[in-house]
Amino acid sequence: MTGLTSRDIAVIGGGPAGLAAAEILAEASHRVALYERMPSVGRKFLIAGRGGLNLTHSEPLESFHRRYHPANPSFAKAVDAFPPQALRDWCEGLDQPTFVGSSGRVFPKSFKASPLLRAWLGRLDAMGVRILTRHRFLGWEADGSLAFETPDGRVTVAPQATLMALGGASWPRLGSDGTWVPLLTGAGIAVSPLKPANVGFTVPWSDVFRERFAGTPLKRVVLRLGEESVRGEAMITTDGIEGGAVYALSRLIRETIEAKGEARLVLDLRPDLSEDTLMRRVATYKPGASLATRLRKDAGLDPVAAGILREAAGRTLPSSAGDLAALIKAAPLRLLAPRPIDRAISTAGGVAFEAVDHRFMLKARPGVFVAGEMLDWEAPTGGYLLQGAFSSGRAAAAGMMGWLDEAGAGL
Ligand SMILES: Cc1cc2nc3c(=O)[nH]c(=O)nc-3n(C[C@H](O)[C@H](O)[C@H](O)COP(=O)(O)OP(=O)(O)OC[C@H]3O[C@@H](n4cnc5c(N)ncnc54)[C@H](O)[C@@H]3O)c2cc1C
Repeated sequence: MTGLTSRDIAVIGGGPAGLAAAEILAEASHRVALYERMPSVGRKFLIAGRGGLNLTHSEPLESFHRRYHPANPSFAKAVDAFPPQALRDWCEGLDQPTFVGSSGRVFPKSFKASPLLRAWLGRLDAMGVRILTRHRFLGWEADGSLAFETPDGRVTVAPQATLMALGGASWPRLGSDGTWVPLLTGAGIAVSPLKPANVGFTVPWSDVFRERFAGTPLKRVVLRLGEESVRGEAMITTDGIEGGAVYALSRLIRETIEAKGEARLVLDLRPDLSEDTLMRRVATYKPGASLATRLRKDAGLDPVAAGILREAAGRTLPSSAGDLAALIKAAPLRLLAPRPIDRAISTAGGVAFEAVDHRFMLKARPGVFVAGEMLDWEAPTGGYLLQGAFSSGRAAAAGMMGWLDEAGAGL
């Protein structure tokens, strides 16, 4: 046993959800020990900082809620209780003011995660939160205590209540590797299979296209799948396509592939021009101009967009201006499979909402609460992931305190 007494609270997982929960619990004078398997906490949070740390989004709450899938009333309540503006105020309270970027996304003015994390950890330390790194949760002992693997061997603790925020399974080298799944399913807790979210997809590129364009951005395009369409950028990779516009459609693409074996994306390579205008432009070319010149000069396509067109047409482009314009406005692209989960930005699936009550407490394990990405929700990039981790971490901590009070065990 470590030095925990039965009145301590254990938080397992030192990502934003676990840290947010620890803060709420410590603020209410609970004694909190936070266990983290890595040598330091917040590694994924720090990596998110490399992209400027998109903390949340400024869109109205009504549409904000629609970004989370599946919709869940407890999760929505958690976001309402700690909405984007509260997250911004919280950052400000740690001397990290935020701003709204042109896309509506919210970032710290420093564009970095490290000063925010440093200030946050300083606050938690001042509140008495004990952070025990290199403690890997192994599961429950027969008597219900928690078992951890540590550099000093196996230790067990028997806290008053436990909050788990073990993350998903993307970027496992940062700590969240999804190995908690069998620990929970083995304890009778329903977990939806973990799947890659905000992820790239494989495309059967020709060798010529791959060699020439892997690593090239495809700018200002519209991607369509069924009724959904997204304007933005994508990145060509050796074996497929990734980037913001693809991530925004990634749930739909993944589900289509699961149902049909592949997804046929439709690309508008010149979304700012109508098909008629394009047709006129490609119809009035100078005699002798090569097709490549017509695509570049008359249709205004980058080499990579022209390459996509050739891939879509099976390399022989239509000779009529009408057919060429139609192809530029609706070039089909076959997506075969999502990239592996370890390359995804986030994880879909996780502890099923049916397995937790309205307080985020496991029905099968009273006194154990769950928060963050390990719950079964997904959202696009845009700040929704971190917001979901913060809000659910705080809500699960509040849920735990309500439960402790009701059980008459509160401090
Ligand atoms: C490259 C990249 C960029 C991103 N950028 C953004 C962004 O700009 N905006 C945004 O909103 N989101 C972004 N995200 C997603 C965001 O970082 C995550 O959604 C968020 O960190 C999830 O928080 P969490 O606390 O639930 O889980 P995590 O941050 O994954 O934390 C879980 C913690 O639990 C620990 N743990 C796991 N298993 C055990 C165990 N058995 N025992 C003990 N500890 C364990 C892990 O080591 C980890 O520290 C990005 C993700 C990546 C990979």
